[in-house]
Amino acid sequence: MKAAMPRLGLGTWHMGESTSQRAKEVAALRAGIDLGLQLIDTAEMYADGGAEEVVGEAIRGRRDDVYLVTKFYPQHASRKELVSACERSLERLGVDGIDLYLLHWRGRVPFAEMIETLERLVQAGKIERWGVSNFDVDDIEELAGTKGGKAVYANQVLYNPARRGVEYDLLPWCREHEVQVMAYSPLDEGALAADRRLTAIAADMGATATQLALAWILRQPGVCAIPKTGSAEHVRENAKASKLKIDESTLREIDRIFPPPSRKQPLEII
Ligand code: NAP
Repeated sequence: MKAAMPRLGLGTWHMGESTSQRAKEVAALRAGIDLGLQLIDTAEMYADGGAEEVVGEAIRGRRDDVYLVTKFYPQHASRKELVSACERSLERLGVDGIDLYLLHWRGRVPFAEMIETLERLVQAGKIERWGVSNFDVDDIEELAGTKGGKAVYANQVLYNPARRGVEYDLLPWCREHEVQVMAYSPLDEGALAADRRLTAIAADMGATATQLALAWILRQPGVCAIPKTGSAEHVRENAKASKLKIDESTLREIDRIFPPPSRKQPLEII
């Protein structure tokens, strides 16, 4: 079994959409792997398989250096569809196995049927582990209460300093049940890079706003972050977040700008 999931990774949404960007995207992913951002997150949905192909090119010859996460559509979660969806992802990625295979969001296929099929993929060596994405507390409780459902390894959700709703109940639930949390859109789709208040706080620490936003997420055990960038320069900047330490007074300043939730908020989804 692969070691635990790396904490800082690379997102790939919007990669593979334009052939003119492909070499740059492959170079950015390779630069990330070189710098130790060894988790790559992709999905069959992204560019209709195109992002998985970009990842496949970036990791060719260095499969063992990366922890590979991809996602399947809810309509592919059935006994009839899931095995072939997985085979198509493996083919595009150019690998024999996926480290973590996620249901992209909840659909209509019964959990019991999906879990049974995912476990068959585990036994066949096609996937190492499985998990979900965009599951709020009620969904993940129902899943964990289904036969075999406690094997759920991760829940990938929207989480960053500007979108903290999950802190109220979902993060504590995941911590208690040892489900890893993958923070998607950790830079709020890029908006935090340009946030003047965060930039000012970060400047006092000799850092950038993106580094501060990522370090703020990574300070929490059991939470990883998967920023996306198509730029090798931005990858280098983001990679430094894993070394940035945030003290208590800085955390309080961030709380003042982006207050934590004081009541239940429905899970936000992009
Ligand atoms: P994000 O990572 O929060 O932000 C991406 C944006 O930030 C891009 O426009 C990127 O531009 C910019 N950026 C990155 N580093 C930067 C830097 N150092 N300085 C300035 N700008 C920077 O948003 P995201 O792509 O939505 O989320 C990340 C990943 O999470 C996705 O790629 C995907 O893998 C996953 N995701 C999953 C779901 C789900 O439903 N499970 C939903 C959304 C996202 P450049 O490319 O120009 O650097």
